[in-house]
Amino acid sequence: MSTIAERLAEVRERIAVAADRAFRSADDVQLVAVSKKQDAGKVRAAEEAGQLLFGESRVQEARAKIPELPSRLRWHFIGTLQKNKVRQALPLFELFHSIDSLALAEDLQRIAEEEGAHPRVLLQVNVAGEARKHGFSPEAIRRELEKILSLGRLTIEGLMTVPPLAPEAEASRPHFSALRELRDALEKEFDLRLEQLSMGMSGDFEIAIEEGATLVRVGTAIFGSR
Ligand SMILES: *Cc1c(COP(=O)(O)O)cnc(C)c1O
Repeated sequence: MSTIAERLAEVRERIAVAADRAFRSADDVQLVAVSKKQDAGKVRAAEEAGQLLFGESRVQEARAKIPELPSRLRWHFIGTLQKNKVRQALPLFELFHSIDSLALAEDLQRIAEEEGAHPRVLLQVNVAGEARKHGFSPEAIRRELEKILSLGRLTIEGLMTVPPLAPEAEASRPHFSALRELRDALEKEFDLRLEQLSMGMSGDFEIAIEEGATLVRVGTAIFGSR
């Protein structure tokens, strides 16, 4: 069995090869090592191999884990954020990938004001229109973006998506390209920059990089199964 250091090196190499294939610089792709349901010891092993950026999907778990670990580690929130966890989450995470409704954005704005915080966020988009999946529909984002942009505490840095589960990585490609095209269209229509595209997980991060991902969220390919 390979170690976390070996698997990390392999993932980094695959990122570099995919970036190269797309005529992109690997430096433009940040690896978020998804450490949900993995213990602090595994995070430390990844840190020793040079990984400083981690992703968590539950506030409760992150609140227990993050204080056990060196403060130089950086944390992104990638899960469904419940309104009643926003206050606890604010000081822990430097980027929220998964703001999935106007109501949540408004809660974040209000609580950030109370806490003196200035959260950086991505808007989660349900590009495939799956019935039970979180995220803005492309129509909802167009309808509500003006309002979201008026929430002065939030910096909207880009978009995030989780495509439908599929046995083949290639099945994710149209969803990744749809997210990129939506981003490009919104930048024009609203005259703004949405620099970050958070897309790609263990099964399909190379495809995501080919389609323009700037943040890939990789868990099991680094840490093993959960
Ligand atoms: C768990 C999770 C990941 C990582 O998934 P792997 O398949 O383990 O790489 C990425 N993004 C989100 C939103 C997740 O919940």
